Amino acid sequence: MENQLRDIEKEAMEAIEKASDPKSLEGLKIKFLGRKGRLTSILKSLGGLPKEQRPIVGKLSNEIKARIEKAIGERMEALKGLASGPELIKGFDPSLPGRRLHLGHLHPITKILNEVCHVFEKMGFSVAQGPEIELDFYNFEALNIPPDHPARDMQDTFYVDDKVLLRTHTSPIQIRTMEKMAPPIRIIAPGKVYRCDSDVTHTPMFHQVEGLMVDKEVSFSHLKGILTHFAQEIFDRDTAVRFRPSFFPFTEPSAEIDIQCVMCRGKGCRVCSQTGWIEVLGAGLVHPAVFRYVDIDPQQYSGFAFGLGIERIAMLRYGIDDIRLFYDNDLRFLKQF
Ligand SMILES: [Zn+2]
Repeated sequence: MENQLRDIEKEAMEAIEKASDPKSLEGLKIKFLGRKGRLTSILKSLGGLPKEQRPIVGKLSNEIKARIEKAIGERMEALKGLASGPELIKGFDPSLPGRRLHLGHLHPITKILNEVCHVFEKMGFSVAQGPEIELDFYNFEALNIPPDHPARDMQDTFYVDDKVLLRTHTSPIQIRTMEKMAPPIRIIAPGKVYRCDSDVTHTPMFHQVEGLMVDKEVSFSHLKGILTHFAQEIFDRDTAVRFRPSFFPFTEPSAEIDIQCVMCRGKGCRVCSQTGWIEVLGAGLVHPAVFRYVDIDPQQYSGFAFGLGIERIAMLRYGIDDIRLFYDNDLRFLKQF
């Protein structure tokens, strides 16, 4: 009799485990615990047992009844929980790991641009902005490049019409800033510029950062100190910097600034054309003619201006030899930064 009871319990537990809906659970309850159920019929036959066995078998069958009832109740709860959750889709395996989201990041050009701005912001420069579609006056004339000046040939300009163009450099922001502000002025102006040019080192659109400082007694040594500090912040602490005389219509004197080649450390390689130096900046003291355009007295104030190409800095920093890679939007390239 006892073995019979244990077999019933085992069978009931297995069936409850397998039950997949409340209806079949109800069926099991009737099958095992109902008035004509298997456990009940055993209890009914207790009378036929010897007197001393009755309490033992009776106690066991009551315990088994309680365990089966409990198991049915728990399974019912579990099934209700599943049914009230999101609709189960056939073939959907909720235990599979989720799909990994691809996190984006800043474009390498944006990263370098932010970094360059940050170096100057730490030295007290604030960021100024200007329009990309610019008047000829701000892009050329007020920068001491009158019509028919040969310096206009230095830059291949996209013209919108006779008076309007896509700015070829960020220098017009110097003029716009000096028109609005009285010295002391310390600004940097990052932004897109446009020139009709395309090869491995040129794209029709690229990024420049312009710098301008105007105050009493600003000298070339201030320019030299600030740009040397800048080069050493962006490249290496011990990067050597070289100033070479140059010409720009809006600065006098003008200089081109080279850094020691970051690839060969000055020994000479393909990147630096065996010279050991790489040009990264143009700069100079603000030309008195430019000050006159914006009503600043060149007898009283002096200043310096500089401009640098962000793509060029990024190419040197990351060792990239084709500027067009930045704008191909190839994720295999962009993911490396
Ligand atoms: Zn080199």
